[in-house]
Amino acid sequence: MAESKTVHSPLVTYASMLSLLSLCPPFVILLWYTMVHADGSVLQTFGSLKNNGLQGFIDIWPRPTAIAWKIIACYAAFEAALQLLLPGKRVEGPISPKGNIPVYKANGIAAYVVTLITYLSLWWFGIFNPSIVYDHLGEIYSALIFGSFIFCILLYIKGHLAPSSTDSGSCGNFIIDFYWGMELYPRIGKDFDIKVFTNCRFGMMSWAVLAVTYCIKQYETNGKVADSMLVNTILMLVYVSKFFWWEAGYWSTMDIAHDRAGFYICWGCLVWVPSIYTSPGMYLVNHPVNLGVQLELSILAAGILCVYINYDCDRQRQEFRKTNGKCRIWGKAPSKIVATYTTESGEMKTSLLLTSGWWGLARHFHYVPEILAAFFWTVPALFDHFLPYFYVIFLTILLFDRAKRDDDRCRSKYGKYWKLYCEKVRYKIIPGFY
Ligand code: NDP
Repeated sequence: MAESKTVHSPLVTYASMLSLLSLCPPFVILLWYTMVHADGSVLQTFGSLKNNGLQGFIDIWPRPTAIAWKIIACYAAFEAALQLLLPGKRVEGPISPKGNIPVYKANGIAAYVVTLITYLSLWWFGIFNPSIVYDHLGEIYSALIFGSFIFCILLYIKGHLAPSSTDSGSCGNFIIDFYWGMELYPRIGKDFDIKVFTNCRFGMMSWAVLAVTYCIKQYETNGKVADSMLVNTILMLVYVSKFFWWEAGYWSTMDIAHDRAGFYICWGCLVWVPSIYTSPGMYLVNHPVNLGVQLELSILAAGILCVYINYDCDRQRQEFRKTNGKCRIWGKAPSKIVATYTTESGEMKTSLLLTSGWWGLARHFHYVPEILAAFFWTVPALFDHFLPYFYVIFLTILLFDRAKRDDDRCRSKYGKYWKLYCEKVRYKIIPGFY
């Protein structure tokens, strides 16, 4: 957590924390309203708010209804049960700053397949129509906004009263503790990992479930699915499938290994992912553009290539670390830096830094295909409105900030070895530019 607090000046840190805490919830509602009720036009939403002011905004904010709570509760309970009950290989996460090694059950891909088959079967056999989810989307987001806020307060209290491991503790400031979290690996009992639930099984899973929902809603409304919607849904599903295929690898990334469970990560995954990340599909429901076969296939191919390159970057790093550098990167023995660092308990440890392959192009090159993939699943919306591109813009800002946070954290962890890495691999994200 310390790295998150020291990257920017205290004033910037407080200002950004308070503005995200207060602005993100209304933004989610405004985005939903614009996509679903204002034809995707920011100007139209702005126009209707201008006439009615704050009261107008209060009027468009849907109240969480019983059906919204029921949908969320069934989905959350189903995902929690799959997380607990499905079999999976035992996987160890990376050693934590306090020297703990978290243990996980790798059953993400099984949970993903079971979820999608169950959801589609419910629709196919007429038991539950996914269109209901779309029709109550505003109420669902509203319930998620409040429910997740309460969830984060409970996490804060748990962090104080019953932390699951020594990777926890307060920095003495309530707002920072609430925002960045108290615990690195909070659990219920020994086995139920809360961050795996919030980030993967609720957040990322909801992305796939909502992508399918939007597609079905368009089909139910128009009797067919436009090729723009198909491209969007397929690319999002390829991306989320890749995520679950590689889920155990995700457990050694910054989100899990460095960021504590607080508003930033947990509220983000419980509310921001289902609403903002899925928003290009939400827009396409009412905007069935026909791209034509050639354009459709070109966008699809470009998007899949980007998802593959992003996956391959993560895979290269993971395999390199797992084999202790005894692997082949692009057909050759990897070039590397052997970096030593001291843990919080004063122990000396060694890490390997890969300086060839994707990781020799730039220090965070993997963010380039991540951003491009998002662009390709948005571009089927064409350019009538700006709002579908909000996620791509948000992601670009998030990842550029993340590259800075990560560089600063690694610099303080590895010292002169990180300096050496920066000399060898000069660019942060875009080779030759930045
Ligand atoms: P990672 O955690 O995967 O990579 C950064 C970490 O890797 C560093 O903290 C460092 O950790 C280690 N590392 C850095 N350089 C090297 C190197 N040269 N060789 C070996 N290890 C190195 O980054 P992210 O969590 O940001 O990304 C993981 C994936 O998630 C990516 O695919 C990214 O695109 C995606 N992502 C998606 C987001 C979204 O909202 N859509 C948001 C964020 C990420 P250590 O301390 O172990 O040395």
